[in-house]
Amino acid sequence: MSGTIISPIHDLLNDLHGRLQEERGGEVATYIPELGKADPEWFGVAVATLDGVLYEAGDTEVPFTIQSVSKPFVYALALQDRGMERVLQQVGVEPTGDAFNAVRLEPETGRPYNPMVNAGAIVTSSLVDGADAEARLDRILAGLSAFAGRPLAVDHKVLVSEAATGDRNRALAYLMHGAGSLRCDVDDSLTVYFAQCSTLVTTRDLAVMTATLAGGGVNPITGQQVVSVEAAAGALTVMATCGTYDYAGEWLMRAGLPAKSGVSGGLIAALPSQLGLGVFSPPLDPRGNSVRGVAACQELSGRFGLHLMRPT
Ligand code: GLN
Repeated sequence: MSGTIISPIHDLLNDLHGRLQEERGGEVATYIPELGKADPEWFGVAVATLDGVLYEAGDTEVPFTIQSVSKPFVYALALQDRGMERVLQQVGVEPTGDAFNAVRLEPETGRPYNPMVNAGAIVTSSLVDGADAEARLDRILAGLSAFAGRPLAVDHKVLVSEAATGDRNRALAYLMHGAGSLRCDVDDSLTVYFAQCSTLVTTRDLAVMTATLAGGGVNPITGQQVVSVEAAAGALTVMATCGTYDYAGEWLMRAGLPAKSGVSGGLIAALPSQLGLGVFSPPLDPRGNSVRGVAACQELSGRFGLHLMRPT
């Protein structure tokens, strides 16, 4: 059975949503000008369980661009298409403790440190199947859609805005091309990466996509095996160690769940074999994580005893 459920969990989500809606901290990102148009009041929370049940509160159907929350899903696609050893040749899996847009590569190998920061994500999206940029973008859009269980599309205004202000990513791509870790054409790689980040999703989509990772790559609504168990586990692993940038350590201490945040205000967290959480609220803390998103996930983790390192 699938569908949105009204239950005590729903009451709890509504209560949490009502309280956290009053939180006024954080700033909406403006370095991609189009993102600056987001309403700071938007706030959605959704939980998808592996048996296909959705619990939702707030603005769970407002579309927004996925931004960095795309990174673990595209990493799972790259693992699926190339295998772990091949992907590791070009992208590491070490946490940096750096900001999402840090200009830093491993000195010995020239690899980006991990696929959850921009440098690593640019290489990752160049690794999915496809003979050219158009084919790789098709693969990514089809893959993200399969994770969500519905067809997703790119927001062209955000894409143009990203490309116009993406010099830092351009600089990273040139550095990595020079270092040998980015082996595709620089402009092509950035076109694919910017479009990936500009893909429109809802909070509900994020919960279903995350539940798909938590379920070993099987979408709990459609039943489709989107990626292998190994690829899904690889994505969850880097989410646990690197998913919230320079907050990843404290995040894991407090929430105890693999997670990923993005600059448009999306935040996902997964409880393997159980559920996926999706939260959306545009105001960000100084490290680039959604203020209401972090508070909502940490409260839900505590409330339901989801911390992976704590025995139940
Ligand atoms: N598209 C954004 C960028 O590359 C993604 C960053 C993010 O969500 N943290 O700058």
